[in-house]
Amino acid sequence: MSRQSIPVSRLGSDHSHLIDTPLPDLMARARDIRDAHHGSRITFSPKVFIPLTMLCRDTCGYCTFAQPPARLESPYLSPDEVLAIAKRGATMGCHEALFTLGEAPEERYTVARDWLDAHGYTSTVDYLVAMARLVLDETGLLPHANAGALDRDDLARLRTVSPSQGMMIESLRGDLACHRGAPDKTPERRLATLEIAGELKIPFTTGILVGIGESRADRIDALVAIADAHRRHGHVQEVIVQNFLPKPRTGMQHEAPCPQDEFLWSIAAARVILPPDIHLQAPPNLSDDFGVLLDAGIDDWGGVSPVTADHVNPERPWPDLDRLRDVSESRGMNLAPRLTVYPEFVTGENSLSLETGKSHDPASTWIDAGLKFTVLDRCDAEGLGRDDPGAVWPEKVTAADVVNDGAEVVLVGHRSTQWYSGANNPPPTLVPSTKSPLKDRRTRVHEIIDVHRAGHELGHDEIVALFRARGREVAAIAEYADELRQRAVGDTVTWVHNRNINYTNVCTFKCKFCGFSKGPLSLNLRGTPYLLTLDDIARRAEEAWNMGATEVTLQGGIHPDFDGDYYLHVTQAVKDAVPDMHVHGFTALEITEGARRNGEDLESYLTKMKNAGLASLPGTAAEILDSRARSILCSDKITADEWLECHRVAHRVGLHSNITIMFGSIEEPTSWAEHMIRTRDLQKETGGFTEFIPLPFVHMASPIYLQRKSRRGPTFRETVLMHAIGRVVYDGLIDNVQVSWVKIGVAGARQLLQAGCNDLGGTLMDENISRAAGANHGQKMSQEGFQAVASPLGRTLVQRSTGYKIIQPS
Ligand code: SF4
Repeated sequence: MSRQSIPVSRLGSDHSHLIDTPLPDLMARARDIRDAHHGSRITFSPKVFIPLTMLCRDTCGYCTFAQPPARLESPYLSPDEVLAIAKRGATMGCHEALFTLGEAPEERYTVARDWLDAHGYTSTVDYLVAMARLVLDETGLLPHANAGALDRDDLARLRTVSPSQGMMIESLRGDLACHRGAPDKTPERRLATLEIAGELKIPFTTGILVGIGESRADRIDALVAIADAHRRHGHVQEVIVQNFLPKPRTGMQHEAPCPQDEFLWSIAAARVILPPDIHLQAPPNLSDDFGVLLDAGIDDWGGVSPVTADHVNPERPWPDLDRLRDVSESRGMNLAPRLTVYPEFVTGENSLSLETGKSHDPASTWIDAGLKFTVLDRCDAEGLGRDDPGAVWPEKVTAADVVNDGAEVVLVGHRSTQWYSGANNPPPTLVPSTKSPLKDRRTRVHEIIDVHRAGHELGHDEIVALFRARGREVAAIAEYADELRQRAVGDTVTWVHNRNINYTNVCTFKCKFCGFSKGPLSLNLRGTPYLLTLDDIARRAEEAWNMGATEVTLQGGIHPDFDGDYYLHVTQAVKDAVPDMHVHGFTALEITEGARRNGEDLESYLTKMKNAGLASLPGTAAEILDSRARSILCSDKITADEWLECHRVAHRVGLHSNITIMFGSIEEPTSWAEHMIRTRDLQKETGGFTEFIPLPFVHMASPIYLQRKSRRGPTFRETVLMHAIGRVVYDGLIDNVQVSWVKIGVAGARQLLQAGCNDLGGTLMDENISRAAGANHGQKMSQEGFQAVASPLGRTLVQRSTGYKIIQPS
């Protein structure tokens, strides 16, 4: 057969040796490349399929999607129909709305032209833009536009409503019989679309169709052309290798299906030819034994819908997610949901720069400014899709009528049902795992656990690798953390009877996560500023003592009128009222500010505080000890070095303290690892930390979330991992890991007690800070409440002092 000349056809010659490479060898090479660049992760996109129009001006010999007008009730789905599908998807926890449609049907069918005219749209793409916008606004699902070969204007318009787009190259042969009636399937049109998408910085999905009459050499040509376009623009996020299956009532219904070996060869060849950062996908529903596709080097299963059929292959249902997970795990791969746009285009080097828009920020380069938050809102810390079960709806808020110490806003409209820190939605059960570990399945996570068990301290990369854990790996880390907990502190679960006294909410600092502070410089201008008098503080301490409290926790905003003596007076007021009360108070910021405002060095100031009765420092104000994250979250606050120095000096003068970490807003696992390593180093130096307290970011009323610049807090998987990995990292150095019930809730706390935690923290009467950020797990906890968390686990609840001495019941 003669070949139509196309500009790239000779580029494949460098890879011509692949044609005769034995399949097992080629697949092994492909797997090695995949493993080296993508590890053991296999992604999928939970999606709904929205077939906006099944009319198409092309007639391809294999296609059952395109229909003539007579077979359709309406040329286009109506906005109500589009929204109904999208809402079903949102309810089921999908992240993607895949818009699939025929190419420019208005060019061929009068009925399509008339429908568009009657509804006020200039073209099919014009209507697609409107429907993608509708879906975004109403459901938050991320559209992926699959609108075929488009010109620059259409691609650019779609970029504003669709974080990624796609068009299959299919084949670069211009003489395929199946494309004879398809003016949009010419190699020139396909390549031009791919090129312009790159110029417009559109994260782009493309691919080849295998078995439609093309040869191996033709496939190599197509893959080389895709690779070259990606090298020019960096925009090809994934390549789909799809196998041809003959379908009834199509021009190719009597052709043979793509042979399995040919399909596997094509996948493996794609992995070898394409730059390794391009993800490789093969659809699981088009193969009976789809596990073998993993052996050929894929790292993505593509879109899988719990709601809609594959409208392009309606006779092939999506595999059930559990089966997809089991098949993936049986081959040592971990399944993770992704967004329509891949993480490299959202986070990559540093998602923190979503705010700054600096040039190294991938999201600013690749995602339209108007879509950045919509993408971020569904992200986990790795830029993948949030993986808690349940719906994610866009959060719409209105000002609260009564603010007082609580959140300034209330949620309106659809309620998300996923677990969030501070919200009442139940968490998924991750610990203990309901699934038995797969025999003989060893991943990097298991190797790291073994290395630690053998006495090796975890380094930065190992900690980050543990934070990437998915599926059964999460349970493996939790089980190991539980083992370490048992060895360190036995089976008791501790709590402390304390009262929070947040003496003022007026603050001169502008921490972007803080919903608590009020005042002229803070981000919250509504709400009631207050400042307790010393008498109020003393009275609250006395009340607490009379109710059995052994500790008061003193924290507040940094009032512009305070000098360093204020904190001394507060301490003295408590001690004068209740001499035996343990004063646990003042963050490193308050201490550092107090010393600075008094013109004293930290050591003399902390010594004075200790002499006045201060007994220990909370670890708050640490937030995240990573300078890049701090520069966004709290740029005017003390630096990470200053936080560490304050605690170093506190330990030196004999004051204990704890380590907190706030996680789930803008940082990535690399920030978490840095935080853990820096605090672990200090603990080795001083031994002054008594516990590790992870504090999941509560997003609902946090200013940075309301300004559309942060995620929605950590996922529950991330929350489990933070506590469990903390137990492992601080093993032998810090015995106590606390779960913050006020942010995580009772059901989550019970799971975390089986993931390395041994302490439930304090009764926290009058907890205001989490509440101001929107948490609604209550303001105080009783001994009975703690008992209800610990008892079902067969663990003994005991009351402790702030310093972890057991308090015997009197
Ligand atoms: S976190 Fe503390 S320092 Fe920052 S604004 Fe809130 S009250 Fe002020």
